[in-house]
Formats: sequence, C-alpha cells, structure tokens
Amino acid sequence: MNSSSTYIVHKFGGTSLKTADRFRSVASILADRLYGPQCIVVSAMGGVTDELLKIIDLAVHSDESYKDVLSAVRQRHFEAAQDLLDDKSASAFMADFDNDYAHVSNMADAALVTGKISENARAVASGYGELWSAQLMRYLLFSTFDNREVMWLDARKAIVVGASESGVAVDWERSQVNTDELIPSDFAGTVVVTGYIAQDLDGRPTTLGRNGSDFSASIMACLLKASQVHIWTDVDGVMTADPRSVSEVQVIEQLSYNEAMELAYFGAKVLHPQTMSPAVSHNIPIYIRNTFAPENPGTRIGAVSSADQPVKGITSIDGMAVVNVEGAGMIGVPGTAQRLFGALAEASVSVVMISQGSSEHSICFAVKDQFAECARDVVENTFKDDIANGNIQRVTVTPSLSILAVVGDSMHGKPGVAAKVFSSLGNAGVNVRVIAQGSSERNISAVIDQSDAMRAVRAVHSSFYLSPQTLSIGVIGCGTVGRPLLAQLSSQIGRLSSQFNLDLRVRGLARSSRMLLADARVDLDHWAERFESDGEPLDIDRFVDHVNAEHMPHVVIVDCTADAAVAARYGDWLEAGIHVVTPNKKACSASFTDYKRLQERRIKGDTRFLYETTVGAGLPIIQTIRDLRETGDRITRVQGILSGTLAYLFNQFDGSKPFSEIVLEARASGFTEPDPRDDLSGMDVARKLTIIAREMGLELEVSDLEVENLVPASLQSTSASEFLERLPEFDEHVLQRFNDAKEQGKVLRYVAELGSGGRGTVALRALPGDHAFAHISLTDNIVQFETERYCDNPLIVQGPGAGPDVTAAGVFADLLRLSAYLGAAI
Ligand code: ADP
Ligand code: ASP
Ligand code: MG
Repeated sequence: MNSSSTYIVHKFGGTSLKTADRFRSVASILADRLYGPQCIVVSAMGGVTDELLKIIDLAVHSDESYKDVLSAVRQRHFEAAQDLLDDKSASAFMADFDNDYAHVSNMADAALVTGKISENARAVASGYGELWSAQLMRYLLFSTFDNREVMWLDARKAIVVGASESGVAVDWERSQVNTDELIPSDFAGTVVVTGYIAQDLDGRPTTLGRNGSDFSASIMACLLKASQVHIWTDVDGVMTADPRSVSEVQVIEQLSYNEAMELAYFGAKVLHPQTMSPAVSHNIPIYIRNTFAPENPGTRIGAVSSADQPVKGITSIDGMAVVNVEGAGMIGVPGTAQRLFGALAEASVSVVMISQGSSEHSICFAVKDQFAECARDVVENTFKDDIANGNIQRVTVTPSLSILAVVGDSMHGKPGVAAKVFSSLGNAGVNVRVIAQGSSERNISAVIDQSDAMRAVRAVHSSFYLSPQTLSIGVIGCGTVGRPLLAQLSSQIGRLSSQFNLDLRVRGLARSSRMLLADARVDLDHWAERFESDGEPLDIDRFVDHVNAEHMPHVVIVDCTADAAVAARYGDWLEAGIHVVTPNKKACSASFTDYKRLQERRIKGDTRFLYETTVGAGLPIIQTIRDLRETGDRITRVQGILSGTLAYLFNQFDGSKPFSEIVLEARASGFTEPDPRDDLSGMDVARKLTIIAREMGLELEVSDLEVENLVPASLQSTSASEFLERLPEFDEHVLQRFNDAKEQGKVLRYVAELGSGGRGTVALRALPGDHAFAHISLTDNIVQFETERYCDNPLIVQGPGAGPDVTAAGVFADLLRLSAYLGAAI
C-alpha cells in the first residue's frame, strides 16, 4: 500500500494541535512516515475556531470583551511560534498573522458598530485558525525534515464547493484544476493544507461546516489520488460509543464506509459525516488514529466491514424535533409521502429520520429543532385542503428529543438485535417515542427524550458490549477485611475475566468518611493513593447510586464493616435489586422480625444476600447447612467452637501460666478485640449461633440463648483498663476449673450448642480428651453437625476461623457464588 509514488493524507484535528508540544509530536509522527509524498491537513489549534466565533458573536452583541479574546488568540499563536520556530521564521509567521489579525479585528469592529454580520462573513472569520496552524506547521516541518520539500496550500485556493441539501457539494472539476495548478504533479515532499476552509462557487471564502477538516482530508485524498487517509485525533479510533458518555467503550477495529457514515451522521463526533463520500468513490481507506498513542493501529474504515459484531456502535444526537402527521385520510392514498417530503426538500428542511406506521394512518419524521416550526408550516401548507376536510386530523411537533442510533452492517438478517435494543431501553426505563429501521437493516433508530439519551446509550451499549456477567461492585470498609479483599480481587480479576468472561468491577470504595468512585473501575493496585487524589466526602446514597448504575447488568454491595448503620440499609438495597455480600453479623443476628423482613425484601427484589463469613470466617458453615437442608437432611444437633479468639485462649491455657497473662499476650498479638471482653462475654459466639439457628429454619433470638459470660460479674462494667488490670484476681477461679477438668482427663473448651428444638447454649465446657474439639489448633473453629444422615459419625467442618486473609477469601468466594447464581460458568 505504501507505494512511494502515492500520497498519504494525514489530518490532525484541533485536539492534536492544542499546544506547541503537540505540534512537536505531530512533526515527529510525520518524520517517522516519510515514505512518499505527504499531504498534511490541519485544523485550527484546539479551541481557536470556537474563540473566533465567540469574538464575532460578542461583537454582534455589543460586548467589547471580544478584544480580550482576540488578543488572547494572538498571544497563543505568538507563544507557539516563539516556542516552535527560529527567530526568522517566527517573525515571518507573525507578520502574516498580523495581517490576518487585522482582518478579523476589522470584521469584529464592524459587527460591533452594525450589530450584525452575515453568516458568510462569520464563517470567513472562523476560518483563520486553520490558516495560522497550517503556516505554523509548515515552518515547523521545514526545520524538522532534512532535505525535504515542504509547501503549504491555502485550501480556499483549491477546494471549490457549492451548497447542497446535506451540507456542501464539492465541485470536483474546478477543485482538480486548481489543485493541479498549485501542486506540481511531480511533487514528492510534504504539503500542508488548511482544513475546514474552501471557496464557494463565486470564488469567495467559505467553510465546510464545523468539524469539516476531516472532510477536507478526504477531499484532498481524492484530488491527490492518495492511497490512504489517516485522521489523527485524541482517541484510539472510532469507539463503540462516545467515550465521554460511556466508560466501557471499545475501539472498533474495522468499519465499512456505510457504518462509519451512519455513526458520524448520528452523532459520533470523531468523524465529519461527509468525510466518507469522496473516499468511497476512490475506494481510499481511512484510518482513525491517536496522536497520543501513534503505535496503536486505530480503526480502519473501508469498503468492507468485519462481521464479528452485529452492532458496531451506538450514538445519539440531541436537538431533534419530531413532526407527526396523522389522519385516516392518508390510508391507501398514493403519493402522500412524496408530496410531504418533496415539499420539505423544496423548503430546504433536511429530514433526519422517517417512520411510517404500516397502516399509513400516520407519518412521522424527525428534523433538527431549529427547523421544527418551518416543517410544521410546510406540512400545514402542503396539506391545507386535507386538513380542512378532515383527511388529516392532526399535525403535532415535539421538540427537545434525541435520536439514538444502533449501527452495524451485519445486523442484517440477524434476528434478536432489535429485541435486545428495545428490551435494554425498557429495562433502563427509557420511553421510546418513535422507531425506525432502515431497509438496509444497518441502523435501528429510536427517538427518545433528550434527558434520557445518555442513559439510553449506556444501557444499549452494555447489552451488546458488556459481558452479561459484569458485576458493578461497591466495597464499604477498606480495613481489616476490605484491604485483603481488594488485594485478592486485584490479583484474580484478569484471570476470571479471560477464563470465565466474568467481569468484576469495583466501581466504588467507601471508608469511614470518604469515598472513591470510578466510572469504569477503581485501580485496585493503587486504590489507597487514588483515595488521596480523587477521594471525596462520603455520601452513602450517592455511593450506592453510582455503584447501582443502570447500564451495569448486576450490582453488589460488599459490606466489610461491622457497622449496624450500614447493615440497616441492606433491606433497601436488596429490594432495589442490589445484591449484598458481607462478613458483618449485625443484620443476620438482629431481632427475628427485622431478619425476616430483610429476607422478605430480598425475595421482593429477587436478589441474593450472602454472608458465609459471618460464621467461621472462610469455612463453609452456612453453605453446609444449606446443602444439608436442601437435600432433605434434618439437622438434629449442632455443636461448635465458633470463636477463634476463645479457641486460641483455651488451646494455650495449660495451667502453667495464669489465664490473664494469656489474654494479655493474645491481645498484644491482635488475636482479641481491643477490649477482650467483647470476646470473653460470649456475645460474638451467641450471634454466630443465632445465625446458624436461623439458617436451620429456627425462629431464634440472641436473647433465647443461654450464654456463659466469661467476664467476672464485677468486671463487666468497669473501664477496659481496669478490666485488664484486675483480671488476675480471677485467675484462680479459671485454674480451678481447668484442674477439675484435667483430673477427669478433660479439657476446657468454649462451646456453642444447639438442638433441633431450638434450645441453645454457649458455655465453657469440660470435654473428654478424645473429643474432636479437644484437638484443634491455634484459632481453629470447628462445627459438628449431627443429622439424620450423619447420625453415627457427625459431619465436621474445621479450620482457621478468624483472620483477615481467610475472611476476605470467604467474602471473595461469596462474590463468586453470586456470580455463578447470575450465570457465570465458574
Ligand atoms: P479532533 O479535534 O481531532 O477532530 P474531535 O473532538 O472533533 O477531535 O473528535 C474526537 C472526539 O470525538 C473524541 O475525543 C471523542 O470524545 C468524540 N467521540 C464521540 N463519539 C465518538 C466515537 N464513537 N468514537 C470515538 N470518539 C468519539
Ligand atoms: N476547526 C474547525 C472546527 O473546530 C474544523 C475542524 O476542526 O474540523 O470546527
Ligand atoms: Mg473533529
């Protein structure tokens, strides 16, 4: 393709020419591609066209601040010239610049005096930005390239255009003659051409319309018989949707001209809609590339598309109005549509979309908002008689609408695409007012309220581009359990995605008073730093709203706190369709009425509430109970050591050291709560036993349990420090119990026990030395299930029942269990 004799056209948009540094990057991109003649089409420096238009508009509105804007524009170019060019070139550039500057200034001054300016003059003023950037580029390339000819071309001298219904129509013959005159046929260097501007049929300056430099590039490609056009911008190519509204966009590798045209026409700003037609006629491929990442391949637009995805992209355009013409008198009357659209064409009203009910009872079409009233007049005039005699009953105009377009060549003949589009709109609560599908089946369009547009694009986009197993995850609590959970997620997310197409996206993190929200996903390798740089004050409602984004197929909140206030919100979340995963015991051990209500709300919301880690950390205790019950077994008795802390204390205590000393050591090693009474009171174990009981189907309250509090009565309400100080007073008592047990060949264990009738106790027991509970190590938890099936020999679950890593792993396992429920093939 890169034949040395054919041109390659490179177009750089304003986004690639914002600063002197950007100009330098462009020069280096070009320097790497000197394998034949080059045509460089440039836009104005980023934002300059807007500034020029602003200057004129301020002046027309008698606002003299236009002078400040004008001098800021001059200053910007002056600084860029100083930065990029040697003194001689910089002064040559500024001399030309100041000539142009005087023109613009005069035009603005005149507008200030008269209070008006013609559209044509306004367009002329807006075109200077391209003249300046092209000259800057010319000088810069001249000094960058060794031994290469660099010339520049004012496109107003070459490209001739007239007006057409769809914008501008190129006069190819005249444009060709001009170009051939201006660029020698044997030119082998680099020609820098102004984008956006041209001359009209009378030879006066005009423009190709906003964003018209893309069009200039493809026109120049035809005139110079180029082999390729590269449009360099600030994104990696044409994306599946506008990256400013959808964060999960992907680069489209390949598009057909038709697909690109539809996307551009319906709002993909990355390309000017008319860009394609000259390229199509000469079959010139267009590449959309990223100036900021020139190594990326970008999007190739050519005669053929790739058939891998039925839907290539989703766009929307705002500012639409729908005109609806209704009347029984139109049924079966040939030529009605022709009369209508003929009259609209004559009045130069461009129709963006048409939809006609198959009954022919109504015709409905969309035009830009600014043409809405004109369109109404045209309809009312054209059908004056039909309206008078009642054949047409109503002509209504609805403004402020958007058109959503779903584009792809291979939607053709593929059933189910439209169904998917409309069901995702329905699920997102978007009201569809009008539907149209071109007979090419390349585009499904829907008219919707402007206020719904972004939501609609996101919803349709995720239905085609997100894995159906995408979970939007909000983690509350980034401490003991949250922190290792995030680390575990970070190391496994890539594998889960590639192996199972499971897309776990942590989109929100919350901790005590701050939150961190991310549109696509939080960077889990640097979340703590991101909290510093991008964190904001915690607003739990906003946090949940963000995580619960409509375009996310599934949403889950992971509560890694021990906070009752957070737990109190589960009901709202579960009912609203948000799944909940948590190691927080508060909700499951609350009053039975609250617990039951929570389960009812969960059923209403058709959601999952997973809390395996509330008992035994990562050990499969809740799951075991569920499996036993669901397979029809009946649990007759459950016994267990459910506190890692108490397990540790009584594993360590062998009578050689006072019990109080062991408590202090355990506390120092982080094996107890800061106030060890929280463990010794037995309440934590009682809560866990309550959760087990409820899982077994028993209507049990924590207060129904008999709990032996290991904190001596006289120390139960003292300060924590006094408690620690006075604990040795009771060593004797514990030692006594230990020795009594030892005498009978038994050991002390703090055991929770529940019979099938619901009688539950939590107490320190002396157990025979051969009991399963006598041989646990460190912080092990152990639970023994006696059931109808496991009657001779109980089912035992045993292992470390505390610790941040195993608890986090248990929460992670719950997340994966949830994903499996939601359809992931893990
Ligand atoms: P340039 O100045 O290079 O011509 P534009 O701002 O005109 O750049 O166009 C590029 C922008 O188009 C991107 O930054 C992006 O925000 C926007 N855009 C809208 N829709 C799409 C899409 N489907 N794919 C890529 N970019 C899009
Ligand atoms: N500078 C013009 C505009 O901003 C043309 C372009 O950049 O394509 O619309
Ligand atoms: Mg553009």
